[in-house]
Amino acid sequence: MKKDFTPTLLDFGNIQIYLARHFGFCYGVENAIDIAFRTVDENPGKRIFLLSEMIHNPQVNTDLQEMGVQFMQDTYGRQLVPFENLTKEDVVIIPAFGTTLAIEEKLNAIGIPIEKYNTTCPFVEKVWNRSEQIAKKDYSIVVHGKPAHEETRATFSHAAANTPTVVVNDMQEAINLGKYITGETPAAEFYAEFKGRYSHNFDATKDLQHIGVVNQTTMLASDTQAIADYLKQLMLQTYQLNESNIAARFADTRDTLCYATNDNQSAVYGMLETAADLAIVVGGYNSSNTSHLVELCEEKLPTYFINTSEKIISPHQIVHYNFHTREEVITSDFLPSQSPVKILITSGASCPDAIVEDVIEKLIEMRGAHKTVDTILKEYQAV
Ligand code: SF4
Repeated sequence: MKKDFTPTLLDFGNIQIYLARHFGFCYGVENAIDIAFRTVDENPGKRIFLLSEMIHNPQVNTDLQEMGVQFMQDTYGRQLVPFENLTKEDVVIIPAFGTTLAIEEKLNAIGIPIEKYNTTCPFVEKVWNRSEQIAKKDYSIVVHGKPAHEETRATFSHAAANTPTVVVNDMQEAINLGKYITGETPAAEFYAEFKGRYSHNFDATKDLQHIGVVNQTTMLASDTQAIADYLKQLMLQTYQLNESNIAARFADTRDTLCYATNDNQSAVYGMLETAADLAIVVGGYNSSNTSHLVELCEEKLPTYFINTSEKIISPHQIVHYNFHTREEVITSDFLPSQSPVKILITSGASCPDAIVEDVIEKLIEMRGAHKTVDTILKEYQAV
């Protein structure tokens, strides 16, 4: 069934908010948060650790820390609490994006069960399972993801346990990888070019002859599809294949894309068809899926990436994150003075809806809007 991706108009008179049809929390994040809070309830008096941030949301992570949960690693894999400090009496929660086999082994060796409080999202596990299936048919895996991201490290580790695996960050890297498939670049150069991105014993002369592409589920689905299409095309040409026999060298993995990432991204495409003055994207600054939503919006109009309503300082000033330079910047006169001002709003998969509501409240309050959120809600309920 075709989904509707037109945004919802919240018309406050002098300010019109176009809210993306799908935004915010996905199943995986809700599930992870539920399990994490249950873990705290079920283990009074025990030390509870999270392998790393639960999800890329500062509020949720702060709430958990205030309940006594400690993070073992930061988002870049730097160790905050050494594994040697753990005992079998401790509880360790595995985050939504999963973890590497090496870390699972470490926890098992200490005697900490990993199944009970494992919040790995089923859609991430689906990628691992699909990798395993195609590995059994002797395909190597190309992972499209950010090499340092926890989920990519975890997916790489699970795939590499079964088959030769390499990570590409973007289309340019896929093009560079493709040159080893066609033989345009000598195989010997692969190891320096993809240093730290390929599995043990990867043989560039033969391990790129049968491949399948999977992704870090929060990458732009259209980018992953473009990379898969590009590599498939190379295989068709290099081995003189056609659609009826391409499967011999290129595995179809389209079914591994996460529905939530897809829906939130498609809803942004739908939202961007509305002519507006600016866009606000709400989410954690280190959230991959949120930064992709920002990327889509900023191609079309001025876009402000914020993590709380407090970043809207006044009708004249906003503090927002530039994810390209990884710093917060201040922009003046971000809110045009004409009436009505039209604003597109969406949020990432790990952003609670309450934060989006706060942002809307703040905007309408600053603009002295003609209607309140309650009035708008009543109008909707009356329809
Ligand atoms: S974005 Fe998708 S894969 Fe990631 S946690 Fe959410 S549902 Fe799972």
